Amino acid sequence: MPGENNTEAPSGNFITHIIDEDLETGKYDGRVVTRFPPEPNGYLHIGHAKSICLNFGIAKRYNGTCHLRFDDTNPLKESIEYVESIKEDVRWLGYDWQDHLYFTSDYFDQLYAYAVQLIKAGKAYVDSLTPDEIREFRGTLNTPGKESPYRDRPVEENLALFEQMAKGELEEESCVLRAKIDMASPNIVMRDPTLYRIRKKDHHRSGSKWCIYPMYDFAHCLSDSIEKVTHSICTIEFVNNRELYDWLLDALDVYHPQQIEFARLNLSYTVLSKRRLIQLVSEGHVSGWDDPRMPTLSGLRRRGYTPSSIRKFCDTIGVARRDSMVDISLLEYTLREELNRFAPRVMAVLNPVKVIIENYPEGRTETLEAVNNPEDPSMGSRSIPFSREIYIERDDFMEDPPKKFFRLAPGREVRLRYAYFIKCNDVIRDDSGNITALRCTYDPETRGGNTPPDGRKVKATLHWVSAAHAIDAHVRLYDHLFNVENPMQSGDFQQHLNPGSLVSADVSKLEPGLKDAEPGSHFQFERMGYFFTDPEDSSPGAPVFNRVTTLRDTWAKIKKTL
Ligand code: ATP
Ligand code: MG
Repeated sequence: MPGENNTEAPSGNFITHIIDEDLETGKYDGRVVTRFPPEPNGYLHIGHAKSICLNFGIAKRYNGTCHLRFDDTNPLKESIEYVESIKEDVRWLGYDWQDHLYFTSDYFDQLYAYAVQLIKAGKAYVDSLTPDEIREFRGTLNTPGKESPYRDRPVEENLALFEQMAKGELEEESCVLRAKIDMASPNIVMRDPTLYRIRKKDHHRSGSKWCIYPMYDFAHCLSDSIEKVTHSICTIEFVNNRELYDWLLDALDVYHPQQIEFARLNLSYTVLSKRRLIQLVSEGHVSGWDDPRMPTLSGLRRRGYTPSSIRKFCDTIGVARRDSMVDISLLEYTLREELNRFAPRVMAVLNPVKVIIENYPEGRTETLEAVNNPEDPSMGSRSIPFSREIYIERDDFMEDPPKKFFRLAPGREVRLRYAYFIKCNDVIRDDSGNITALRCTYDPETRGGNTPPDGRKVKATLHWVSAAHAIDAHVRLYDHLFNVENPMQSGDFQQHLNPGSLVSADVSKLEPGLKDAEPGSHFQFERMGYFFTDPEDSSPGAPVFNRVTTLRDTWAKIKKTL
């Protein structure tokens, strides 16, 4: 079955080696608890899939649990729409958080209590410097920071101010709660990081209850701790935050998970950052989060990617510590391998030119047998109609062919797949000289596309559809959304948008059986690629097709040159 949801346990990697060791030493009493912690401020993308497969995959491998936790600490950028889309995408990928659905916002009371505890221990203070001053005082990589004049406020004053912050009695940006660590630390993260700030904004879950919100570094480690996570797996850019992660948990003397960093996924010809993807959507460069060209899971799903192919891809790229760029053709290859096994073959002419077979009886229709999938005989065969007028691909004919062109040309014979040999005798033009049809003859002795008794050979086999029986369909061909390998490398990433990323071929002619193709079905259009009936835009009797991927295997070529 396509995209079946029996998720596989992932291959071993450096993280599973750490877990194996922890299990041996009994570090967490044999428990394995991971979490996938998205911030609901956008739709998930293929980079998140890597994290999802890793976290849920590890839980599966060790018979542990994986939590889905929304890290919803910034009401300015978050929404229920994003929460729902993330749940849908994780489920679609084939993972089940069971009853482990959590929200950092559900811990706001507890987090507030932890902050009070830190203040009481003299490990946090309310700072009244302006945001600019705080930035200035922080110092740089080469120079130490400077201590705030408010750093030594007495505990009582800090407690009173923090309470005032929470009650909404102080203005936004008038003060923040900071950890009291070390303004001279070589790790800038440790220079009295902000723990809480005032944001007078309702939250999509806690409503108007709070007007102070915890910062990521404070909320994240404590949420992990509250949930008794064992291995808190995050991407490499948090490596410097680990020191703070550990400091906070030690300062509060609470349950202490371990943070492990892995390399994030970067994919060629793609941007993987919610902030940038939001821009593409809000500025109208794509039709929405689920535009089939988007690297979002909803975009890939609509394009025709299957959950199993994405999981396979994530397993193939593996998990390492060092960042690298993965070639997008590996993703396409993984899908193609899968579709090759189950997608039925059909014939569709995307850019048609008519062929009139002059020695074929007018008004006659015959039925020919076509194999559904040569890779899988159990998929059987189907009947397709053949008649005097057919369509072939315009590109399969050349009036004046160069040496290496073996397809149809005047005086040349080719095979029509499953049908007959035809020979081109003449072309028909309109007044402006454009070719409107080809005059051909067929050889009745080649029925089924078989070699005739005289053993004559042809060099090309073309796909075709019967003109009278074909259905018209809207077919969308896609190319990469960006025309450079790394759109982030130079200048504004939007400069590198590929203007040809969507090509519509409105007048495509498809074999009649496709009329009632169910939305969300996969096909191989012979010689043209793998296609998917768009689940949104198709309607009964009027399918719209997305090309998921071409048949061309650029990945195999790359592998050869490695
Ligand atoms: P973005 O950079 O797209 O805004 P993010 O890291 O801000 O992503 P989160 O919602 O915080 O998005 O991500 C949830 C989880 O997914 C985090 O643990 C994060 O490390 C992981 N993640 C995000 N992007 C990638 C990526 N490209 N490769 C692997 N994991 C990722
Ligand atoms: Mg993040």
